[in-house]
Amino acid sequence: MVDLFSSELQSDQHRWQARVLAVQDGLITLETWADETGISPALTKNAVVHVLPSRRGPDERQERLKAEILRIRGNRADAQVFESTHGVGVGDWVELSDELLSVALGPGLLGSVYDGLQNPLNDLAVQYGTFLPRGVELPALDLQRLWLFKPVLKSGSRVKAGHVLGTVTEGRFEHRIMVPFDLSGDWEVDWIREGSYRVSEVVAQLQNQAGQQHAIHMQQQWPIRRSISHTLVAQSQAQRLYPQQPLVTTLRLIDTFFPIAKGGTGCIPGPFGAGKTVLQGLIARYSDVDIVIIVACGERAGEVVETIQEFPSMPDARTGGTLMDRTIIICNTSSMPVAAREASIYTGVTLAEYYQAMGFDVLLIADSTSRWAQAMRETSGRLEEIPGEEAFPAYLDSAIKAVYERAGVLQRQDQQETTGTFTMIGTVSPAGGNFEEPVTQSTLATVKTFLGLSTERAYRRFYPAIDPLLSWSRYLHQLQPWFDQHREAGWVERVKAMLSLLAEGEDIERMMTVTGEEGVSRENFIRFLQAKLVDSVYLQQDAFDAVDVSTPMPRQQALLGLLETVLAQQPTGLDKAQLRDDFTQLVAWFKNLNYSSWPGPEYDQFENKILSWISKA
Ligand code: ADP
Ligand code: MG
Repeated sequence: MVDLFSSELQSDQHRWQARVLAVQDGLITLETWADETGISPALTKNAVVHVLPSRRGPDERQERLKAEILRIRGNRADAQVFESTHGVGVGDWVELSDELLSVALGPGLLGSVYDGLQNPLNDLAVQYGTFLPRGVELPALDLQRLWLFKPVLKSGSRVKAGHVLGTVTEGRFEHRIMVPFDLSGDWEVDWIREGSYRVSEVVAQLQNQAGQQHAIHMQQQWPIRRSISHTLVAQSQAQRLYPQQPLVTTLRLIDTFFPIAKGGTGCIPGPFGAGKTVLQGLIARYSDVDIVIIVACGERAGEVVETIQEFPSMPDARTGGTLMDRTIIICNTSSMPVAAREASIYTGVTLAEYYQAMGFDVLLIADSTSRWAQAMRETSGRLEEIPGEEAFPAYLDSAIKAVYERAGVLQRQDQQETTGTFTMIGTVSPAGGNFEEPVTQSTLATVKTFLGLSTERAYRRFYPAIDPLLSWSRYLHQLQPWFDQHREAGWVERVKAMLSLLAEGEDIERMMTVTGEEGVSRENFIRFLQAKLVDSVYLQQDAFDAVDVSTPMPRQQALLGLLETVLAQQPTGLDKAQLRDDFTQLVAWFKNLNYSSWPGPEYDQFENKILSWISKA
């Protein structure tokens, strides 16, 4: 099936004037030559080309394999093929185009499962974990579906790039149809019509002073390697703001200790099995955002299939619908060609920026960015580029930075001010859990929140296995004014006091492994027990308990306050065994408190037990 927008271009003969010169795994070198008039077709970096293998596929179908030009040298170019190049031979035709690798933007994206190139993966594929046959491209949006377009402007209105022309109801959301983000200059609405249309139909026409006309469809194409928000800023149609407020995940360890800002960035490095995927799922499920985009570059095919099977059936705690109503999944497994995996992150980021431009709070989760970096490494190796550390390309650092920099807070100005946020969280899966490797290091240099998972904590089943002594968040300081105003005065200082207690507890524990309990003072032993209490009942959170899985912010504040009151008391226990018993009892009460609905009689019951311990102490 041929893309709706490119089908008319097929007849242009220049597009055929290239042939395959060499094939190496997923990389081809193509060569163009001049026609009888002496004109060579132009080659464009990042443009899409299609390879037409002369050897027919099993069903005698002429396959068209999508590829992207990565490097141009004179009339030759290297292109990465997004499919297996099995059977592609020297001399095979290549169909050129000057269209950059793009995605379709428009109503109907929400709830979709796509591969890295935005081919929809139908239910069958989802169920069986099999993917599309080679060379098949499907339209990303349903081309038959009718959407009710409601104009918000009249003819004669003046518009610029990114301005909202009308709206469409997409599930629970008011999807905004905007002037294409790269349309430069001033335009006037020539005509605009309300009614039910397909995404490819013209709903409005714009005209500029020079008399040029521009037709508006509900669907627009956007090149994935180009930032929508940066384009709008460059056209003075938007402003990027500093993140102002936290994203609330309802995970205590993150919200209280290592907050992530709305429009901010974070990463979750951790060895295999430490709980990255489970943690990402919890964040996706409970965070206070409108839209979630999951880019799954799984370690195993099964893992990705699990994600796409689980999400549609998960209830959305925030809306009562299903999680899938507000989610887009981009999925690639390690068995898919590396080029598609490399592209998938940009596809996801572009979709996130699109909804951000409408004014929504969008969260993108990429699991795992290591697979993406490895895809870059493989392609770079085939291009014989000068390798950097561990054979990753020398531009690894800037590539990682460029992706995370597309996240942010974007304020657009047209009829009214609209602010949207795009938060990006990526997992990193360093081999052997060694955080010194290049992908982790480059990511750490870019993101503002680091949630480092520890094998040791995962092994002891301390979930989420985020190491509180290793992790950090720059937002704890950056958002301090917000915390002071919306939580409680001195919030940041209180959180830091808890973190130093945890560090102290760890030091004392290390000492005790050498000297035994007898080797530490009673005072130090109490500090150790206090740190353990905070760890057990605040940091650890049971993902399998319906209540404990998600702690809203006011409840986190109440719990932190109660813990502080307990910590302020000198326990009466005379010897260490007695002290230990005391704290074991406290941990049990606090855990039961965490499992109780709040507010509620059961919660009060455990709170009273804790309070009576305090008055007794
Ligand atoms: P990773 O993605 O880092 O390889 P996973 O997220 O798949 O690791 O987690 C591996 C296993 O650890 C899960 O299958 C689950 O049994 C356990 N696990 C991880 N996180 C939690 C959690 N928050 N609560 C309970 N069990 C967890
Ligand atoms: Mg995983």
